[in-house]
Formats: sequence, C-alpha cells, structure tokens
Amino acid sequence: MGKIEMILNAKEDFKLGKIQMILGWKKEDESIESIPAFIESVEELEELIYDEYCVNNLSKYLIEEAKNGKKVGIFLKKCDALGMEQMIKDNRILSENIVPYQVECSGMKDFQTGEIFKKCQKCLDESQDKYAEVKEIENMTHDERYDYWMGELSKCIRCNACRNICPACNCETCVFEKKDEDILGKANNESETGFYQIIRAYHVAGRCSDCGECERICPVGIPLGKINKKIIKDIEELYGKEDDDTLSSFNLEDDDTFTEKKGGK
Ligand code: SF4
Ligand code: SF4
Ligand code: SF4
Repeated sequence: MGKIEMILNAKEDFKLGKIQMILGWKKEDESIESIPAFIESVEELEELIYDEYCVNNLSKYLIEEAKNGKKVGIFLKKCDALGMEQMIKDNRILSENIVPYQVECSGMKDFQTGEIFKKCQKCLDESQDKYAEVKEIENMTHDERYDYWMGELSKCIRCNACRNICPACNCETCVFEKKDEDILGKANNESETGFYQIIRAYHVAGRCSDCGECERICPVGIPLGKINKKIIKDIEELYGKEDDDTLSSFNLEDDDTFTEKKGGK
C-alpha cells in the first residue's frame, strides 16, 4: 500500500469507528526523527506521517493497546508485519482486534547520520548471503570465537533495550524479572552478560523473525543479529526451512515443570 493511501484508509476507518486507535508515526519538536504516534482523536489524525525515518517497529505496542476488545489500526513495514504475525501465533494478541495497514518500504535511514540502516541494506539486497557473517564466525577456532564474543558482550550495559523492542520477547513477565528465579543478576561482568544473551537468544529461537531491531537499538553496537542468524541457520539445517514451528509449539496443558512455573506467561 502506498503511503498516502495507507494514511487515508486509516483515517477513514477511524472516522467510521472501525478502529479506536491508530498506531503510526509522527514528528515532534521540528526534529526529522519520526516517532511512534498513538492516535485516539480526530484532531490527532493530521499528525500521521510516513517517511524514510519511520524505522521503529510499532507491533509490540499492540500487546498493551489491542486488548479488551479495543480495535487498533497499525502501520506496518514488511519486517514489522513478521513481528506482529509471531505475536498472533504466540497468542499474545488477537488478530480480530487489529487492522493492519501494510506499507511499501524502500529502506529506513538513521535520522542522525542520514545513512540507511544495515538491516535495511540486507533486506533490500536479496543477492547478499544472509549468513555471510555467521559463516565468518563458524570459521573461527573455539578460542577465537570465545574472544570475539567476550569482547562484544563485555560492552553490554544491561539496558534491556534489545529485549524490550523484540516482538518475539513477549512474555508477560520476563524470566529476568521473576523474583522467585535465581537469575536476576544484572552485574556488569562476563558471566552475567553472557548468561543474559544466551537466555535471550534461546528464548526467541524458532520465533525470531530476523527483523534486526535488537541490533539496531543496542546503544553499544553489539552485533546481536549474528547470534540470531546463527540459530536461524542451525534450525534450517536441522529441521528444514518449512518447519518454522519446530521450537515454538507448546501446549498450556502440558504437565512439564516449565508450565507449572508459568513459563511463557
Ligand atoms: S528491514 Fe528495513 S527495508 Fe526491510 S522492511 Fe524493514 S525497514 Fe524496510
Ligand atoms: S531480530 Fe532481534 S528484535 Fe527481531 S525478532 Fe529477532 S531477536 Fe527479536
Ligand atoms: S541493547 Fe545492547 S547493551 Fe542493552 S542489554 Fe541488549 S545487548 Fe546489552
């Protein structure tokens, strides 16, 4: 859907009462940065914009906004739509509460540098080997790999931005926030940051849509996409590309201790 058409359709649906909120983007304070907009009144409709700075994936806001029967319209780029689909599969949002307006995307730019994001370069150029960086790491010795990852992960400041932005990280209470678990440690040391990243990566295994948001948002530039892609590559090799529910199907009636501990809730 073209951007003008998308915005007009959403406005029309809002005025007709088909949706009670629009999740889109707007500008503020004369900055060129585009920020999330939560439109709930006719007066706010004029704020809606769509341009090359609308990089934020809005889909995770649906968990809070599209509940109790409230119908929410949302603007989605291709990568955002994958995140939303995953949350529907995970039963975290209901598709009947959502009206998606999918928009064409020709790449998003960093408002500070004007450069197109790395994740967008990869998305737009299908000739690139998406596993090239993973293969570089696979070709390292164990010691080289260890040094590489310890060097990267030692920069982590445990801000949790990679978790908070991720549509696949959508538990009601993150395991790192559970007071009855013994994994609350947030010290800035190799052991705890490494542990955090291993848990984060395995919790989204089989559900990561490779949207690249965790790596984009990381304030210290840790190449988290390499970890995600390594797991995606391994799953493809072990189970095949078609079987995308391999690690993500579960049954709430399962009497495994995982569900007793309210895992996933
Ligand atoms: S990864 Fe970038 S280019 Fe691809 S759909 Fe998302 S924002 Fe657009
Ligand atoms: S790329 Fe990162 S933010 Fe996107 S789904 Fe995967 S782990 Fe989450
Ligand atoms: S966004 Fe970066 S610095 Fe923040 S917790 Fe994640 S890896 Fe660590």
